[in-house]
Amino acid sequence: MSQIAIDGPAGVGKSTAAKNIAAAKNFMYVDTGAMYRTIGLACLERGIDVADEEKVSECCAGADIDIKYIDGVQHMYLEGRDVSTDIRKEEVGKAASDVSKFAAVRERLVALQQDLGNRYDVVMDGRDIGTKVLVNADLKVYLTATSQCRAERRYKELIAKGETCVLEDIKKDIEDRDRNDMTRAISPLRKADDAIEIDTSEMTAQEVTDEIIRLFEEKNGSKTC
Ligand code: C5P
Repeated sequence: MSQIAIDGPAGVGKSTAAKNIAAAKNFMYVDTGAMYRTIGLACLERGIDVADEEKVSECCAGADIDIKYIDGVQHMYLEGRDVSTDIRKEEVGKAASDVSKFAAVRERLVALQQDLGNRYDVVMDGRDIGTKVLVNADLKVYLTATSQCRAERRYKELIAKGETCVLEDIKKDIEDRDRNDMTRAISPLRKADDAIEIDTSEMTAQEVTDEIIRLFEEKNGSKTC
């Protein structure tokens, strides 16, 4: 099986690149953030304090979570309901960042991710893919961009969707989430020693995609092409 691991902070363009790579290489795109978001949503819907490790762990253990691929697109299910749209809300992203600190949550989701990685050719994105989930990936990349640049991209996306938002608030949310993800005790966000770092600040999504495919083919030939 071929594995491409993409890590990096919030809003750096991981999912856009991963989706494009999956389409170009006919790989499965595994969005691990969506899994943490689903646990975050389960806690929010049940009125569970996302800082309460015991309650969150209990909720995670009991939640009926499923993942399905429909026409190559990952859908997340919670108690049989497709929550793929609900999990995109900003407050769910924050809850995901809080619940992802806990060992029970990470253990359950990492096992699911590793199982997918063992069964399919995957491009997987997240925060700990290169350091924990797919330690033997054929290619590991770590994407970076300034928080200003990431906030501006997210701002433009939200405005294009017709939502009202304030750039400074988005920037603050991104910086809070980075801090949370980089300072937690278990699997904090960091570049794996053998990952290739790409600063995407001045790159288009297509350029990032092309660069990752080039790196993969350089290291692995055109395997599974
Ligand atoms: O990537 P996305 O914004 O959807 O991720 C939501 C949150 O889930 C992140 O802020 C992070 O705290 C958590 N996460 C994680 N490990 C991953 C993927 C996401 O801890 N592999």
